[in-house]
Amino acid sequence: MTDRLYYDDAYCWRFEADVSACRKAKKPGRWEVALDRSAFYPTSGGQPFDTGLLKWKGGSARVLDVEADDRGEVWHTVDREIEEGTRVRGEIDGDRRTDHMEQHGGEHMLAGALWEKLGGVTIGLHLGQEDSSIDADLPEGRTHLTEEEIAMLEDTVNGRIRQDAPIRCWFPTAEELKKLPLRKPPTVKGHVRIVAMGDFEMVACGGTHPSSTGRIGLVKILSAAPARGKIRITFVCGGRAVRLFQTYMKYADKAGAALSCPVAELSRAAAELKYRLAEIQKKANRYETGDLLEQFRAGESRETLPGVALAALTLPDHEPKAVSEAVLEYIREPGKALLLSCGERLTFARSADVEIDMNHLIKRVARGGGRPELASGAGIPECVETARKILLTEHRT
Ligand SMILES: [Zn+2]
Repeated sequence: MTDRLYYDDAYCWRFEADVSACRKAKKPGRWEVALDRSAFYPTSGGQPFDTGLLKWKGGSARVLDVEADDRGEVWHTVDREIEEGTRVRGEIDGDRRTDHMEQHGGEHMLAGALWEKLGGVTIGLHLGQEDSSIDADLPEGRTHLTEEEIAMLEDTVNGRIRQDAPIRCWFPTAEELKKLPLRKPPTVKGHVRIVAMGDFEMVACGGTHPSSTGRIGLVKILSAAPARGKIRITFVCGGRAVRLFQTYMKYADKAGAALSCPVAELSRAAAELKYRLAEIQKKANRYETGDLLEQFRAGESRETLPGVALAALTLPDHEPKAVSEAVLEYIREPGKALLLSCGERLTFARSADVEIDMNHLIKRVARGGGRPELASGAGIPECVETARKILLTEHRT
């Protein structure tokens, strides 16, 4: 069983060890190495593995994955074979581990505050590449948090982080364990490891934690939404929270400059802009509708069908809303029939007093359908001419 150095010191990122076993991994060019002692964290409890190097006299191998087996042996997947008995120096990627400790530490603080303030029981944790999340059961099956509750949780957690309370990890005796005020009962039996973060959080955990709450830095909730009947709270901590703030500020500043307003006024300015655009769009549609109506009237021929003004037109693409408004307005007048190709869309329509089944007609020349007075579909512009010829043949008296 590997002696796990991170249990006693989560900042032990350089260590010496002996290779106790080396075997070929399933993937070609990869080996799995067991050490008598290791500070590399194996994926477990929602926290991803560490990466880094194993160095020895005359060589080094990259650690690409770390997993623990059922017997407690930690296996390091490396890109070079290392002979059993070799003395190696382990070097952990400190940036990656610091990031994991910040996210994991923040998760504890958030889970502790959720339990204390809202009675939420955390049932799952996921540390992702971009953000992390906890799934929790809230009293009465709630799956939402209000804006105020989210702000309260953030303020509580960040206030506790600023207190820079010590974080302690240890293996209590069975007797001591019984008396500890744990947030929830341990899921493992036997050798239970406890983490206590000031007076704010105490729970069983085998992960790596910062030495004090201050080293978590910052916790920011990104969303709280229902997920599989629970609530999922997504968040970022530490350096990730700072980087996210920088990104948001960069884009918020740019948007503010574009809209000539301070960041706090952005939502109002955007809403106003949206309203104005809609008004302009309405005007433009009205203009386009009028323009289309003129074209329909200019294209009419009264010679083809007795008593009916037939407009068979092929027009370039137009705003769909303007087209439908123009068509409806056009057929409100009596004695009109319209065969229209606009872009890739066909519209066949007629006034209430004209006896042509447009639904039937469009189906004979293209893919589409609708009602006897108004039908639409997709087809090539030539369909209009084909339909016109059908009308000429079948409806001329
Ligand atoms: Zn933990």
